[in-house]
Amino acid sequence: MSYRTEEVAYVQPAQPAASAQASQAAQQQRSTAEYRALDAAHHIHPFSDMGSLNRSGSRVIVKAQGVYLWDSEGNKVIDGMAGLWCVNVGYGRKELADAAYKQMQELPYYNTFFKTTHPPVIELSALLAELAPEAFNHFFYCNSGSEGNDTVLRIVHQYWATQGKHSKKFVISRKNGYHGSTIAGGTLGGMGYMHEQMPSKVENIVHIDQPYFFGEAQGNLTPEEFALARAQQLEAKILEIGADNVAAFIGEPFQGAGGVIFPASTYWPEIQRICRKYDILLVADEVIGGFGRTGEWFAHQHFGFEPDLITLAKGLTSGYVPMGAVGLHDRVAKAIIENGDFNHGLTYSGHPVAAAVAVANLKLLRDEKIVDRVKNDTGPYFQKQLRETFANHPIIGEISGTGLVAGLQLAQDPKARKRFANGGDVGTICRDFCFNGNLIMRATGDRMLLSPPLVINKLEIDEIVSKAKKAIDATAQQLGIS
Ligand SMILES: *Cc1c(COP(=O)(O)O)cnc(C)c1O
Repeated sequence: MSYRTEEVAYVQPAQPAASAQASQAAQQQRSTAEYRALDAAHHIHPFSDMGSLNRSGSRVIVKAQGVYLWDSEGNKVIDGMAGLWCVNVGYGRKELADAAYKQMQELPYYNTFFKTTHPPVIELSALLAELAPEAFNHFFYCNSGSEGNDTVLRIVHQYWATQGKHSKKFVISRKNGYHGSTIAGGTLGGMGYMHEQMPSKVENIVHIDQPYFFGEAQGNLTPEEFALARAQQLEAKILEIGADNVAAFIGEPFQGAGGVIFPASTYWPEIQRICRKYDILLVADEVIGGFGRTGEWFAHQHFGFEPDLITLAKGLTSGYVPMGAVGLHDRVAKAIIENGDFNHGLTYSGHPVAAAVAVANLKLLRDEKIVDRVKNDTGPYFQKQLRETFANHPIIGEISGTGLVAGLQLAQDPKARKRFANGGDVGTICRDFCFNGNLIMRATGDRMLLSPPLVINKLEIDEIVSKAKKAIDATAQQLGIS
């Protein structure tokens, strides 16, 4: 098949001839123009300016394999974002399709509410307990990262109720953090533009500043000193509210959607120290960081801290089907388990098809040593290529990241840490050059983000880095900087 990559690890789905023909026919039914017209007429996209999108028209993605996507015009695009940070095992893995097909025939759905359970959710829970750090042995399921963080709030409040500490109600989060887009997820997150559109928010959620050194450090602070100061804002906020009123702190180990912002090594140990000192639960939102992104199974392991709760989604199923989860540290799980009803659940909590796909996905990550490869081989190679390629580049201010995630800070004057006055516009210019160069690279304001499938090989990494270089060079040229 023409769309196979040179990567031997990918198995081509062996479809029966009839269904292959049927799916081909379905894909070839409409021209790009027809797709765009219907999309504009009937589909409201997430996080989009629909008027503007409908005028320019969406790119129609029709298939994918490995780290590549194909659009309806036949363009082959390298996916530097693993979809939305989620397709960790890459596209086209037959093992996941087979797991879903088999489970749909065996038991497509049953609930786990009323004294029932089923094999896939049991297998998944046992496997997660095996893969997660030792103290994480219990998991609650939902359908997304947002629902995971809603669930976190429920667990946090239930936990403090079981401890008789009913006044512990406040949750502290961070500006420019992302925790999803349900009302609770959006409120927990610190994205100003989302808060502006949300008149009614969840109560008792407050924010401290983010550990964004390049953009926010003043004076001569080192990255370590700055990160420590930002962590200590947590202590100040706790003292302001009163430790008896604070239930939890939540943060992404590194901020993903906020721009792949990596705090210096001093940050998380200090956050943990403060949480322990004031008896506050520490929640790591691992929705992006989980399942190998940093070369560790979970990003908090990279940063060396021990959360009480972890939020999971995205890489849990590599995005093949929706699923989210919350992992509970033994000390939290014990309190929840031993203290009566936990009044929370979703129709699809532990959905058998999602659970079966998650099991197949996690086994691939484990058995093909994909996470190990990110840590020891492809991750270091990716980071080295980026840092070498963009060393002394006229508009690259810093490169953040580890493993297979990176943020490239666009800057007016990199050495002086001076950002562009119109950073968002510059990011958009760069993203458009990537788009036209058949590279998916995301822009968050003036930071360009990469988070490719974890199965990417070195040749494909070279392709991403050289396409990113072309786009960033073209951006500098358009801005008249060289
Ligand atoms: C994507 C994301 C979420 C939300 O997940 P959804 O599945 O989109 O609801 C939550 N937290 C983080 C860190 C994320 O990146």
